[in-house]
Amino acid sequence: MRFDYFGEYGGRYVGETLRPALDRFAAEFVEAWADPEFHARLATIRKTWIGRPTPLFFAENATKALGGAKVYVKMEGLAHTGAHKINNAVGQVLLARRMGKTAVIAETGAGQHGLAVAAAAAKLGLRCRVYMGSVDAARQRPNVFAMEMMGAEVTPVESGARTLKDAINAALREWSATFPDTHYVIGSALGPSPFPEVARRFQAVVGEETIRQMAETGDAIDVMVACVGGGSNAIGFFSPRLDSDSPRLVGVEAGGRGMGPGENAVRMSGGASRVGIAHGYKSRFLMDGDGQVLGSHSISAGLDYPGIGPQLASLGESGRIEFESASDDEALEALTFFARHEGVMFALESAHAGAAAMRIARGMSPGRTVVVNMSGRGDKDLFITAKALGRERWIEYLKSEADNA
Ligand SMILES: *Cc1c(COP(=O)(O)O)cnc(C)c1O
Repeated sequence: MRFDYFGEYGGRYVGETLRPALDRFAAEFVEAWADPEFHARLATIRKTWIGRPTPLFFAENATKALGGAKVYVKMEGLAHTGAHKINNAVGQVLLARRMGKTAVIAETGAGQHGLAVAAAAAKLGLRCRVYMGSVDAARQRPNVFAMEMMGAEVTPVESGARTLKDAINAALREWSATFPDTHYVIGSALGPSPFPEVARRFQAVVGEETIRQMAETGDAIDVMVACVGGGSNAIGFFSPRLDSDSPRLVGVEAGGRGMGPGENAVRMSGGASRVGIAHGYKSRFLMDGDGQVLGSHSISAGLDYPGIGPQLASLGESGRIEFESASDDEALEALTFFARHEGVMFALESAHAGAAAMRIARGMSPGRTVVVNMSGRGDKDLFITAKALGRERWIEYLKSEADNA
């Protein structure tokens, strides 16, 4: 298929058993994409259930405080379930139903993708099982609860470090045994072909709306900024401009606690990653010399992943997309800044993009324009941000809740 590789990255590195499932999925996707009825169905559910288009606003107070360029914010976090992940989840669950599948499976780290798939499966009438590392399941109790509310079965994964990368391996294994009636919805623009391209197409709506909404403001776009975990919000946001020379496209990785091994999730903007193969695709990974995937760290669970989508890796090397990083502390600072100045709480992931946008805006001349994608909203992070920014009173609150339970 045309979109098997992005430069040297991408491909389909899976066992023989999964090839027929991937072929069938790719063929169905091509057919659905050419079918006006599929697009009509997608458009209706986007409008009436996801809440699209999501707003874009001029961050006037932030612009003044930063003293430079105009800052605009795409409020993708106002999409149903709180982030862009629902765009890919709804699209793929619609495809699953079209293929006659009766169930979907998904992996999840902090639970945001699991929640989006659980919601889409409930809405569209498919069974849903979510694989989640047991360490993640224990520390993300609220999202496990929400997924179960929507009828999903959450299966803890006990292998490896019992986090996201182990959940992906478990889900791929499970899919090999169940694909006749089950579709696997991968949570980002990565995995074996055609998943990266499918995720990009379903997330492109974010960028397309942004271009239309910016045209209404009369301001030209000089820079677009998005955070990069696996890369789905970034590739969707940048999608309409990937083939042009402008604007500048900036992807922001998690700088975590510092540049030491295991302290961050910097794959493109530092020198620590290697070309390798994991999770069914070839890309740049934080891995050791034997090809073992290493642990990563970020205060935001969504950016805490050691690989990066193949198209982003390729566009990073070609220079079309620039990569920067923002640390845990810079993300918290940006979160506070936009909350105070604009009355908007970024998700911790998105706050990395916010931090880079602040840096870029400060360095640009007035009148220039930076558009940042707020990929998610911050209410999901209260247990982390409140502990980081107001520790004592938050712990007091948790104790009193436990005492009263
Ligand atoms: C999961 C998540 C991300 C990271 O995933 P990408 O595929 O890189 O977009 C970013 N922001 C939010 C709010 C998320 O939930």
